[in-house]
Amino acid sequence: MNDVAPFADASFWRKVWGIDCLPKIKFFLWNFFAYMIPVNSLLKLYNPDVDVICPLCHCHEETVLHLFIKCPVAKHIWFGVSLLHLVSSDLDWIDDYFLFWHNPELGDSPFNVSWPSIGAIITWCIWKLRCDVIFRNASIDLNRVILDTKRIFNTYISPQNRPVVVLSDVKIPVAEVDHFMFVDGSFKDFNMGLGVIWCDVVGNVRSSRSDYGLIPDAVGAEAAALILAISWAEEMNLSIVIFVSDCLQLVHFINGVSSNIAWRSSDLLEQCRSLISSSVSFKIMYIKRVKNLLADRLARRPKKHSITGLWVSFSSFLNSLIRKENLNDVCTSLIS
Ligand SMILES: [Zn+2]
Repeated sequence: MNDVAPFADASFWRKVWGIDCLPKIKFFLWNFFAYMIPVNSLLKLYNPDVDVICPLCHCHEETVLHLFIKCPVAKHIWFGVSLLHLVSSDLDWIDDYFLFWHNPELGDSPFNVSWPSIGAIITWCIWKLRCDVIFRNASIDLNRVILDTKRIFNTYISPQNRPVVVLSDVKIPVAEVDHFMFVDGSFKDFNMGLGVIWCDVVGNVRSSRSDYGLIPDAVGAEAAALILAISWAEEMNLSIVIFVSDCLQLVHFINGVSSNIAWRSSDLLEQCRSLISSSVSFKIMYIKRVKNLLADRLARRPKKHSITGLWVSFSSFLNSLIRKENLNDVCTSLIS
């Protein structure tokens, strides 16, 4: 028997379509609650020859509730992403788990998206694993599944709370800045590139640094770029530095505008906030991404080629870009 409760009403479906996920995950969820996920127990109703055994644990009948919640392999995945509490209640129907993820008593999700979306992502990843095992004969690599799941949390979800305040009009009085440091962190598949462009107040480039490393998410890469810039400014004993970042989440967090931070990178963000707030001569401001092209381009290169610790007066590959993107104009637009 397929254990999806037969009571889904309009408000239930609104919840299903209201989750904040990629469309393919929404469609999966819709199939899921519309009795259309072809687990073995359901297939058996149409074809008596189907083996009902769960392809992940080989111990129990594969029902929806078993595969996504009760199966030891599924449990391991929920545990591996530190979210076992989402499935630890003893509920009889998968729909009830979905409704439970809407329960306000769970508190706020530490991610950019809500608990129901997080739950949907994990169930989708379990389904993908199950299909890989059956149709591609894949072996079960739980560490890889857990890493992939975390990666989806951090990179492929659309943020629920899009920033509405864009501080592009804020300007710094000219007396309050001696140096600008444009920072950017580039991120893809756990690889990060860091770029820092140091220039004087009118935009003449003094030097640049870039670096490479591994990080779990994009905001972490932005924070790591800022830490590189701050430590560099400290080494050189620079007075009154404005760090310029195109990561609004990071700037808002450091300036105390918001406390909403990416969970995976919270330690790095806290470190940034404490470094900036403990210095009287450091401030951070936001700039639109299109105005941060040099740091962006500088950060992409080490990410792509895994180049660590590059420290040059100015990377020659940026020469053509700086002719198009005039840093003097950008700096002038930041000060009043
Ligand atoms: Zn199982």
